[in-house]
Amino acid sequence: MPEQDRSKNIAIVGAGICGLCCGLALAQQGHQVTLFERDDPMPEGDPDEVFFEWARRGASQFRHPHAFLAVMSNLLIDQFPDLIEEFWRVGARKVSFEEMLPPSLQDNYTPSAEDARLWLMMCRRATMEMVLRRYALKQANLTIQSGIRVNAMITDTVDQQLQINGLMIQPRQGQQLPSAFYSDIVIDAAGRGSPFKSWFRALNLDIKTESHDAEIVYYTRHYKLKPSFQEPQRDPNVRSAGDLGYLKYGVFPGSNGHFAVILCVPCDDLILREAVKSDDTFDAICLNIPGLVPWLGDNKAEATTASFGMGNIKAVWNEFTGPQGPLLLNYFAVGDAAVRTNPLYGRGCSTGAIHSKVLSDVLLKYDDPKTAAYHFEKATREQLRPIWQASLDEDRAGIKRADAILNPDHPSQRQTLKKRFSKAFGDALTRASQQHIRVFRGAFRTFNLMESPGRFLKDRRTQILIFWTLLRHGWKKAPPRVVDGPIRQDMIDKIETVPQRAAA
Ligand SMILES: Cc1cc2nc3c(=O)[nH]c(=O)nc-3n(C[C@H](O)[C@H](O)[C@H](O)COP(=O)(O)OP(=O)(O)OC[C@H]3O[C@@H](n4cnc5c(N)ncnc54)[C@H](O)[C@@H]3O)c2cc1C
Repeated sequence: MPEQDRSKNIAIVGAGICGLCCGLALAQQGHQVTLFERDDPMPEGDPDEVFFEWARRGASQFRHPHAFLAVMSNLLIDQFPDLIEEFWRVGARKVSFEEMLPPSLQDNYTPSAEDARLWLMMCRRATMEMVLRRYALKQANLTIQSGIRVNAMITDTVDQQLQINGLMIQPRQGQQLPSAFYSDIVIDAAGRGSPFKSWFRALNLDIKTESHDAEIVYYTRHYKLKPSFQEPQRDPNVRSAGDLGYLKYGVFPGSNGHFAVILCVPCDDLILREAVKSDDTFDAICLNIPGLVPWLGDNKAEATTASFGMGNIKAVWNEFTGPQGPLLLNYFAVGDAAVRTNPLYGRGCSTGAIHSKVLSDVLLKYDDPKTAAYHFEKATREQLRPIWQASLDEDRAGIKRADAILNPDHPSQRQTLKKRFSKAFGDALTRASQQHIRVFRGAFRTFNLMESPGRFLKDRRTQILIFWTLLRHGWKKAPPRVVDGPIRQDMIDKIETVPQRAAA
């Protein structure tokens, strides 16, 4: 009997990271895929041109640095084996497990089989999008309609169930496209500002949303090393990323001497919040953090952008099914449109890549839309909820730490036994991960989302190593000073005298 043709006409709203990941996987399965993207087409040139010249207003985080964790890097290789070479060709870098080992573990390192998959991809987000998009454009059954905004849904009620049949689009000026586009399935990959939420509301469809503010602002500045300077070697005594309690910082190395620095401060810290907005005080803060001096000290680098920021940093979880099943049949939301985490943890694209794979697997397996919606919701909850919850827990702990520095005398800062134990355990875990490869590997797996967050802590030998470290170092002694830097008041004193250049 001839095989039944199961290929569908699929519309995807948004050609960001998840739109592209989803589109590629579904095109590979033989579906006819059309992506609608409100932003203009990508420039033809090299990664620098794409980064500096592409007006990417639809993804406002486009120029913020992005880390691409092992889970995403491996998913890309596993699904699209020939794609990876394209990344190396344009200067992306592989950061291996061995390179990330702390110096204390380097000498006696013996690789284990899993280490080959514990690596990160380092490149600008612009480069990630560029490679994915050019690869997508080579697929015969995938089309990207750029510069086209989706304006509304086309819906219909069949057997008392509301379903989506297509989209209303706004073609570019002078473009001869019909304004209605019909499809079997619509995927919402429209990111953190997805318009579908308000369209659902207009139809009285109740998306259940959990939203928690991380109470930080996130600032970035890009730099390039001057021609006579090399990228600094890793130094065991200085950390290029860390948490000073009142401020988190990090360096994101790029290609060809480019790098970016991020600074995050609590929204309530009005002094530092103002300081990170100005180029001069942004630089001054960096120069007072020992971990950033090797990159920016001695006038080694010049800024290629101003400092620019992003607020509205939240953990958001949206639920698109109700007690009766899917709110809207044939509609699926992936990536930030469904689940968002604090960008500090560098998880968004990776959870989006997992989510895209979940959806393409579900659509491969289940033809019936209700069954597909049920399994998509179930797998999303199983795979993404633990990551989302761990990120939210980290946000809450970060808010408390920052509050303890800003309001040290508040009664809520009293040290209880529970608080002291949990801090001592955290310190022992940090110390144990610097001393025992088993603990470091587990923490690295968790960081890279190669396991459900914190699963390595269930391992009996890992637990013994951490408790042994706790007993040896005691929980009253000073915690390991992993990150060096001035206390908040010293930092403020140092930057107060920085002269401000008039804005250009
Ligand atoms: C400051 C910051 C730093 C981050 N750093 C990291 C990091 O280090 N690592 C990491 O993994 N993640 C990071 N993230 C998160 C990551 O950027 C997102 O999780 C990821 O981009 C989500 O992908 P997406 O495809 O869901 O959405 P997006 O990539 O935002 O794409 C959505 C697309 O939809 C388009 N669109 C929207 N509305 C319409 C419409 N009506 N019609 C047509 N097109 C439309 C937009 O133009 C956009 O292209 C960071 C986020 C922020 C804010």
